[in-house]
Amino acid sequence: MDRREERGIMFIVSAPSGAGKTTLCRMAVEHFKDIRFSISYTTRSPRKGEEEGRDYHFVSEATFKEMLERGDFLEWAEVHGYFYGTPKDEVERMLKEGHDVILDIDVQGAKQIKSKGKEGVYIFIAPPSLEVCRERLRKRGVDSEEEIDRRLENAKKELAEALWYDYIIINDRLEDAFERLKAIILAEKSRAFRMRPFLPKI
Ligand code: ADP
Ligand code: 5GP
Repeated sequence: MDRREERGIMFIVSAPSGAGKTTLCRMAVEHFKDIRFSISYTTRSPRKGEEEGRDYHFVSEATFKEMLERGDFLEWAEVHGYFYGTPKDEVERMLKEGHDVILDIDVQGAKQIKSKGKEGVYIFIAPPSLEVCRERLRKRGVDSEEEIDRRLENAKKELAEALWYDYIIINDRLEDAFERLKAIILAEKSRAFRMRPFLPKI
């Protein structure tokens, strides 16, 4: 079934740092051919292995502020001392083309989109414990101990927000978490109101 003449679905995914959100979002983008990843703008520097235009658009604070003043962002937030924002026109273009779009954004940003009354599916990914989260961040090997402490403090605040999301996935075993993510995406694509345009074609 080709959904491309219909508007895509916006999947808003949040998680504490180290919960495995990037890993799961990448798996979803590879698995579902119609899903696109929204590439955010950020003022932080690229980590080892990250690429401009694939992981983020890395910009200066001055550029970010210009974009903010022009109203270029669907939402934006300051996270761990850096600015992050979702490009409004780009996301709208992909949705109009019928692609589903995954936004990997923090809780503050997700709340902004929700408060604007935008239609979307809100998914929260949680680690099985904060200790596991710490271990994953250490293994990822890109953040200092001080940075990891800061991220875990933030994680506690983010976990307190999990209950207003539509779905919560606990990422213990990666394969199980991905099964759940796939199930959520497929169920949302099958919602009766989203399938209505297809009925006359049957
Ligand atoms: P986030 O984007 O939420 O900060 P990442 O996807 O970068 O997290 O994951 C953090 C680290 O944990 C990465 O090295 C990743 O390979 C690893 N990881 C993710 N999910 C799991 C899992 N279920 N079990 C073990 N390691 C995982
Ligand atoms: P990281 O620096 O580890 O890639 O991301 C730090 C946090 O910023 C993560 O929680 C990530 O989801 C969030 N983030 C990434 N892009 C955006 C964005 O465009 N907007 C908001 N609000 N948060 C973002």
